[in-house]
Amino acid sequence: MSERLREVVERLGLLLRAEERRAAAELGIQPVQLQVLVYLDRCNRFSDHPAAVAEYLGATKGTISQSIQRLQEKGLIEANRDEVDRRRIHLTLTTAGKALVKSAATVDRLGRALAGLGRRGNAKAILESLVDAVQSAQEQPAFGTCESCCYLDRKGRRPTCTLFDETLNKSDLGRICREHDR
Ligand code: SF4
Repeated sequence: MSERLREVVERLGLLLRAEERRAAAELGIQPVQLQVLVYLDRCNRFSDHPAAVAEYLGATKGTISQSIQRLQEKGLIEANRDEVDRRRIHLTLTTAGKALVKSAATVDRLGRALAGLGRRGNAKAILESLVDAVQSAQEQPAFGTCESCCYLDRKGRRPTCTLFDETLNKSDLGRICREHDR
């Protein structure tokens, strides 16, 4: 049973990578550059720095640094210093970068198939548990969303992150966060 599950997960990983390579080629960028853009489109403001991108993608800092530089040169992302902590960098998609990610979504056949699967709560919970287990085994940051995070406080008028002591808006809740903890 576990052997078959392993095959299914590995096959899914291979299909996803192949789909990603195809989408990146159609858009005229490298697959890793597309991965960076998609991550930045989905992460929150606490997780949009180069180190978090490298950790999430499991890539070296050097590879991600080069990809970020290329994407900046292409005008697809921009880097801004944090207004409070000037040592921190926030990477954000430009209008062109957002348009490119949207184009990638329209050619993402596997993504649409997974979206259908995601509506089945049970499948989503099982896959999330699997990702949690692998991340934990690899001693990786948890990378999840506020909805399942122990730092989310819904007692006030607006949801709050007790780790960063900041209020969250509705769109924050579904964004990927490096500091997520169940
Ligand atoms: S509640 Fe958790 S997931 Fe949400 S911003 Fe705070 S640490 Fe990140």
